[in-house]
Amino acid sequence: MESWTVTCAACELRWPRVGGYSDYERQAVEAQPCPGCGKHTLVCREPETRDRRTGPRGVRTGGARAERRAA
Ligand SMILES: [Zn+2]
Repeated sequence: MESWTVTCAACELRWPRVGGYSDYERQAVEAQPCPGCGKHTLVCREPETRDRRTGPRGVRTGGARAERRAA
């Protein structure tokens, strides 16, 4: 599932949308007023294409980063 973000340019309210991103979806969202401020200033951010070959974050590769201790 793709996920993309709808952002209001006026009040900076933002919320995620889950589902396929398309011009139709974008126009449908942007045609609506912002639920926060009521202005037609919604902007859709296209999903970023991330390279999923990179491993999950937080995996420690041992010894790559030595702890510094200022004594
Ligand atoms: Zn708004």
